[in-house]
Amino acid sequence: MSPKYQPVIGLEVHAVLETRSKMFCDCPVVDSTHEQPNVAVCPVCAGMPGMLPVVNRSAVDYALRVALALNCEIHNTSIFARKSYFYPDLPKGFQISQYEQPLATKGWVMVETTEGEQRVGIRRVHMEEDTGKLTHVVKDGQRYSLVDLNRSGVPLLEIVTEPELHSVEAARNCAYTLRSILRYLGVNSGNLEKGLLRIEPNISNRPLGILEFATRVEIKNLNSFRSLERAVSYELARQEALVEKGGVVKQQTLGWDDTRGTTVPQRSKEYAEDYRYLPEPDLPPLVVDPAWVEATRAALPELPHAKRRRFIQDYGLSGYDAGVLVAERETAEFFEAVVMAAKVADAKQTANWITGNLFGLMNEAGTSVTDLLFGPADLAKLLDLVATGELNPAGARQVLAELFAKGGKPAQIVKKHGLKQVSDAKLLRNWVAKALDGNPEQVADYAAGNQPVFNWLFGQVMQTSKGKANPNRLRAELERQLAERSPEGGIR
Ligand code: ADP
Ligand code: MG
Ligand code: ZN
Repeated sequence: MSPKYQPVIGLEVHAVLETRSKMFCDCPVVDSTHEQPNVAVCPVCAGMPGMLPVVNRSAVDYALRVALALNCEIHNTSIFARKSYFYPDLPKGFQISQYEQPLATKGWVMVETTEGEQRVGIRRVHMEEDTGKLTHVVKDGQRYSLVDLNRSGVPLLEIVTEPELHSVEAARNCAYTLRSILRYLGVNSGNLEKGLLRIEPNISNRPLGILEFATRVEIKNLNSFRSLERAVSYELARQEALVEKGGVVKQQTLGWDDTRGTTVPQRSKEYAEDYRYLPEPDLPPLVVDPAWVEATRAALPELPHAKRRRFIQDYGLSGYDAGVLVAERETAEFFEAVVMAAKVADAKQTANWITGNLFGLMNEAGTSVTDLLFGPADLAKLLDLVATGELNPAGARQVLAELFAKGGKPAQIVKKHGLKQVSDAKLLRNWVAKALDGNPEQVADYAAGNQPVFNWLFGQVMQTSKGKANPNRLRAELERQLAERSPEGGIR
């Protein structure tokens, strides 16, 4: 980005609260990608006149967890409000939301960037309900639209950050951190593709040295973190080019066309007045008593940021490794269980094996820690075998691959494939001698100062051992015998 402008970005995040039933009726919350349309609908969520909403206590509980995890001030009394607008996916003609008196305000979240940790303000956290879904069809020259109300009335949480994010990276990491927290709290699975989590960045460019914010646009329909990054970058560049040409940025809502890689206008500026907000007359104020709030606070799990700090402090992990391990709660718990179970292997080795080899296998197979066919105790055993020198890294990778593919017990796999590392001095001595006898040219080369030949010879002996030689002992033995054979007869 040009140094003439500072990017200013704020996020609006909508998270479906994955409760069993909807926000204001007892219809189930169903997976819209699996269920038939309109199987989870009743007169309340279909917006029939005269039907009365009743607040789902679980949804409030989920919302409280998030608001507390985001360090918000909780308002013991908050007010539901009607946000009126007309759209065929909104049968009542208004959405029940919260407006002037939301559940929670003034929180913050810690976000990692390459420039360090940043505390990003959370403006508000409020509850609302989702709309239905329209499918536009063209068939036999006819155009029509289908309405599915399964999603109508599903509980949504809206999280609004302050416009304090100043790079694409910060915006992305903030969104990722919020997702991670929602997943830790068990309130949302974090699925952007299915629309269970929707991230809408507000974007403007502020000329350096100017205090006021410039006009912003809002981008909708981002269904991956990749498109979030691309859309924000695109928009910052578009606005800069426009202003540089003497143009003016219009406040508007844009969509993101992922194929063309551009933002596209959706609707022009929306005014709060257009929504004719008014307190919802069919619902009393929402009262959450302090005891409920405190009980919820006490039951919060350790959150990713705190866990990351603890992993760095207690286990001596790098910030990067700790960050990777805590991104998913299950991974963090798996890591700690391995560390607990291991008798010899240390936390750093464990972190390396998990973030390196194990993640490699998982990425390739498209699976996660919860799909593993072996438990933390098995990985601990494997790492102990490496740490005590009974298994070399190559053999251990082979064992891990088999554990990953079929499950089983490390000791048995080692036995079955004869992978036990050979440290026996006599065997190593014979292998090395044989390799050096068979390759006199290379030995002479090495003696003449060609250092890289060492690795080649090392590889020869390793092959002879079928990969089982203890690499450290082998290296030492090879060095010893080469020195013996060099004309000076000394250590090089
Ligand atoms: P709305 O008008 O949608 O009710 P707000 O004005 O409260 O909402 O802001 C919505 C989002 O836009 C917030 O995340 C906020 O941080 C962000 N925002 C506000 N002003 C700007 C700006 N000039 N540039 C970028 N983001 C902004
Ligand atoms: Mg908005
Ligand atoms: Zn219903």
